[in-house]
Amino acid sequence: SDLFGRSAGDRILQQAGSRLRDALGSECTVSRIGADEFGVIIPSVAGEGDIGERIRCLLETLSEPYDVRYRTARLTASAGCSLFEPYANTAESVMNKAEMALYNAKRRGQGHFVLYSVEMEKAAKTATRIEQALRRAIAADEVEPYFQPIVDLDSRRIIGFEALARWTDPEIGVVMPATFIPIAEERGFISQLAQKVLRKAILAARDWPDDVYLSFNLSPSQLVDQQTVSQIKGILASTGFDPRRLEIELTETGLMTDPRSAAKIIEELRDHGMRIALDDFGTGQSSLGRLRDFRFDKLKIDRSFVSSMLEDQPSEHIVRAIVALCEGLRLGVIAEGIEQEEQAQLLMSLGCSEGQGYLFGAPIDASAALLLVHA
Ligand code: C2E
Ligand code: CA
Ligand code: CA
Ligand code: CA
Repeated sequence: SDLFGRSAGDRILQQAGSRLRDALGSECTVSRIGADEFGVIIPSVAGEGDIGERIRCLLETLSEPYDVRYRTARLTASAGCSLFEPYANTAESVMNKAEMALYNAKRRGQGHFVLYSVEMEKAAKTATRIEQALRRAIAADEVEPYFQPIVDLDSRRIIGFEALARWTDPEIGVVMPATFIPIAEERGFISQLAQKVLRKAILAARDWPDDVYLSFNLSPSQLVDQQTVSQIKGILASTGFDPRRLEIELTETGLMTDPRSAAKIIEELRDHGMRIALDDFGTGQSSLGRLRDFRFDKLKIDRSFVSSMLEDQPSEHIVRAIVALCEGLRLGVIAEGIEQEEQAQLLMSLGCSEGQGYLFGAPIDASAALLLVHA
């Protein structure tokens, strides 16, 4: 609706509805059940393969260009589906399951189709259990930052630490961020968690030498939330921490949800003195245009390239190109996931200045980091 106005947006959706009806034929039911959501009932389905095939065709049909007011629009649709089994479920439960499948499809990005499964429901239940435990842990202040050293590759001196969240549940044990960050993100309480972890990380970093910086990960939803900036500024002010010692890592996925909002947040953080690093660079939907549309200070070469660069020529070339790109654009460059000395040597020879990985140290708690940095 940004480009075409609301009524035009609605016209596109009406056209989309007609396309669905035409494609499905008269034995199927199509109804608009939300602003941009359609419900479809397909009476005769010959198993899971058949429905997958048919829905993928529908998604393709929907993605063909639309003509609106002498302009061309496109849309991408996602689909969730559940099979009706007489006596096994009610119409309502089929709808709920289809909705759960749709939710999962959307989470995979645009244009996906997901068929409901029992495993999906189990995963949702597990996530809910983790959510409850995590909310309690956040309230009880049990989520802690760990710190992984970042070194200058030439001198091997520690020049910074990346804060990585760790949660130890009394019953579950240590839970890794790959498990709990996405749950906090999807269920809307990542900023609460992030603020607590950032505050603790800064309190730890205050005891480090002044020339050692702290790097902190922002998650995608924080980049669409304009409160993020004031939250970070507030923590910096109340802890008296120099913003120039704080580096913010973000990923391309995070930029894409709402590029304008992300650009604004990036500008404000930079204006306040923080540096911005683009994390996991080279993965995701990399587009070099992003380096022009957003102002970064540093690129972080993804671990997947570093770990394969010794055996795999393409990976080495990609790393070489990223380093050269950073040189040309006057951006800092750091490689993550360095585990072997040979990788460090190769990176140094390519001109990469900063490194991070198990070779130099795994993430450790605040007191261990303090010992290390003063050793
Ligand atoms: P990331 O930002 O890409 O962080 C690097 C991950 O690689 C960390 O995993 C780190 O422990 C691991 N790693 C570091 N060196 C090596 C190495 O040499 N080899 C291997 N195999 N792995 C290495 P971790 O701590 O499990 O964190 C996973 C992800 O969770 C992070 O990926 C980051 O995206 C997210 N995350 C962690 N803490 C936070 C946080 O406080 N906020 C947000 N938004 N995300 C966080
Ligand atoms: Ca990171
Ligand atoms: Ca990374
Ligand atoms: Ca990574």
